[in-house]
Formats: sequence, structure tokens, C-alpha cells
Amino acid sequence: MSHTAVVGINWGDEGKGRMVDLLTEDHDIVVRYQGGGNAGHTVVNEKGKFALHLLPSGIFRDGVVNILGNGVALDPENLWKEIEDLRAKGISVTPDNLKISDRAPLLLPWHRLQDGLEEARLKDKKYGSTKQGIAPFYSDKYQKKVVLAGELHFPEHFRAHLEELCEWKDLTLSGVYGAEAVTMDSLDAWTRDYAEKILPFVCDTGEFLRESEAAGKRILFEAQLGALRDLDFGIVPYTTSSNTLAAYAPVGAGLPSAKIAEIIGVVKAYSTCVGEGPFVSEMFGEEADRLREAGAEYGAKTGRPRRVGALDLPATRYGVQMQGATGLAVTKLDVLSYMEKIPVCFRYRVRGKETDAFPFPTLLDEAEPVIEYVDGWGCDISAVRRFEDLPKAAQDYILLIEQAVGCPVTYISVGPERESIIRR
Ligand code: GDP
Repeated sequence: MSHTAVVGINWGDEGKGRMVDLLTEDHDIVVRYQGGGNAGHTVVNEKGKFALHLLPSGIFRDGVVNILGNGVALDPENLWKEIEDLRAKGISVTPDNLKISDRAPLLLPWHRLQDGLEEARLKDKKYGSTKQGIAPFYSDKYQKKVVLAGELHFPEHFRAHLEELCEWKDLTLSGVYGAEAVTMDSLDAWTRDYAEKILPFVCDTGEFLRESEAAGKRILFEAQLGALRDLDFGIVPYTTSSNTLAAYAPVGAGLPSAKIAEIIGVVKAYSTCVGEGPFVSEMFGEEADRLREAGAEYGAKTGRPRRVGALDLPATRYGVQMQGATGLAVTKLDVLSYMEKIPVCFRYRVRGKETDAFPFPTLLDEAEPVIEYVDGWGCDISAVRRFEDLPKAAQDYILLIEQAVGCPVTYISVGPERESIIRR
């Protein structure tokens, strides 16, 4: 039984989806264990190019069972649209290849509403939420004011529970924000249009996972976002509202006893960051525009231009430590091919002192990058499939990362397609 986790080392968008898509060839089950449909994984394979938001990236492999665990923010509305979208493109999504944990709480219409109201209240101090309701959803979960997907199996109980919550939520929506109350009529329509549609997929996925593990099946745990967005260890408060770390994977997946043998940390060959918050190695102006264009750095869900920057070694080292990565997948190395000299952030300068450490969130705003330039390779590497065939400067770049962050690089991705990969 050797389970694997594919996790983000930085701010998200590292290319986890393409790595999960690749690694599912050696796994039987893929489980998404946290987060919602507020980000996107882009996958390019022989079936086409797809942007996934909530569905696990194993959905394209025949024979692989995909699971949405109890740790995710299960948004029936977006999930149903995503399923229909994939079906329209010829991808089969059935209760045989998609299972939803009966213990996953439902993201309700008022979560999205509350998210927007709070971001508007924060004005220029906003956290950069995608307004998909994720933060209100997780805070309600911790207050135990949520309905679980499994409750849909008991329609009368489900409606009564929803009515109770509706009354409670109105205290906030109209009482605090002065917004219109959510009516039971609209919730009934929402239940019919979306929640009931996903019911055939809802089951006891914990039992399924325990039985599968006992039968020797291999499980791949899929994360959303990266270590620096982790609720406890990330760049508070510009984090997401769940734990993105591999340590949470067994709990959020619904197999708390799982031991994960391999933790693949996905790192982009440079840095990108969506939304607000400190981003020490950020580039600006023409230099940034060129990198953004070269890497097509626009959000898969929102289309927002991503902030771009130099590879950030202090942040990456910290991410590797938080994830407990056993190996790294460096993605988008091909994007750097146009650079003669490549900027790398080796250290931070904080309050006049240089440091290798990733600072406490309060100090991050004051941190300045210590940038040094290393040699570029200046040629197309997208067809390379063996490490030895990479130009010397590209090999050195990988070795620099490995040595600086203390973790072996086991995969190097040189293009978005499934086969554009170098294994070491
Ligand atoms: P995720 O959320 O971590 O899965 O990352 P995203 O899907 O948001 O962003 C990664 C983007 O980079 C996607 O558009 C991928 O198709 C693309 N991509 C992944 N690996 C590579 C690579 O090695 N080279 C290039 N050029 N693009 C890549």
C-alpha cells in the first residue's frame, strides 16, 4: 500500500492538476481532501484541455475512482455545472467513477452571498476572496451550522435542518449586512436544481476507502492551493480557509489512519500569486509582463492576471518543510527558456538583516528580496525527456533548487501536456 499526495509548495497554481493527471496511471483512487471550486486545475491530455474546479484530476482516467472527501467545500451548484460541462465534452462521470462523501458539508447559496458582502465591507483591506463562499462556508462548518451531503438521503430532515439554519443565517445577512433574507422558496428551488442532482454520487466514502486500502488499492491525495495558503501555517490572513498541507490529507479525505509514503511537492520554476497579500519576490513592469505572457499566467477560474515573480527560495524551503515533501515536481521550466539571466530570490532582508527563514506573517510586509541572477539556457527545452539532455544551465537550475530547499527533484515538467515530463 503506497499512497501518494500531490500538494502545492507555494501560493497555488503550481501545476498540481497536470501532476495528478500523470500520476493516476499508478493509482486506483484519487481523493480531493480540502478546498472548494474557487481555484482551477488545468489538465491537458489526449481527451482535450480542461479546467477543473472541484472534481479530482483523476476523472479522465478509465478505471480510476475519484472521491470528494469530507474536507472539501461541496458546492452542488458549481459541481453539477462542472459535471455537465465534462459530459458535454464526452467525459463520463458516473457514480462508478465519482463518489462524494456523505460527510461533506454543502456550500449553500448564502455562503457566496456573505463572502461578497464581507469583501465589499472590507473595501481596500479586502483579502482578495474569489467570492465563492469558501470562508463563510468553513466558518459555519466550525460552528456546526451546516448540512451534510448525506442528509440529502433524508429529505424531510434535510428541509427542516435547512429551515433552522436559514433562520440563523438571516441574523447575519439582514442583521449585520442589511441584505435581503434568503427565502425557503429559493432554497427549495436550489435543492431541486442542484443538491438532488448530486445525490446519486453521495455515499459512505470512508468505508469505500477502508475496504479499498485493505484490498491493496493505491490512493492519491489531491490538494488545492499551496502551503503558503494553509489556514494555520500560511500567510495569514491571506490564506484560504482550509488546511492545504499533506498532513491534513488523511483526515480531509476520510481515511484518517492512512500513511502517505510519497509526498510530491509541486513547485513552479518561478513564482506566481493570485490575489492580495505579501509576495516578496514580485516582479513589476515590462519584466513581469513578459514572464506573465510567456507562462500564460491568468487564473483558470477567474481569468485574473496572476502576479509573477522570481523563484523564491526562502518561501519554497518553508513550503517543503510544511508539506514534509519527499520529492519535488518542478513545473514550467520551459517558460524560462527566453531569459538570458534568470532572477532568483536567495534570501530576504528583514529589518536590515539578511535571513534564509520565512518570516512571521507580520514581518512579511517588510521583507525585501535578495535577488541574484543565474545563467539561462536560451533554447527550447520542451521536447527534452531526460535530465542529461537538458542544457547544462537548466540542469544547474534544478540542482540549485534541490540543494537550496533540501529535497530531491524527481519530476521536471517542460510543457502542459501529459507526456512533457522528465523523470529522475
Ligand atoms: P494547479 O491549480 O496547481 O493545478 O495549477 P493550474 O492548473 O492553475 O496552473 C498551471 C498551468 O500551467 C496550467 O495552465 C497548466 O496547463 C500549465 N502547465 C503545467 N505544467 C506546465 C509546464 O511544464 N509548462 C507549461 N508551459 N505549462 C504548464
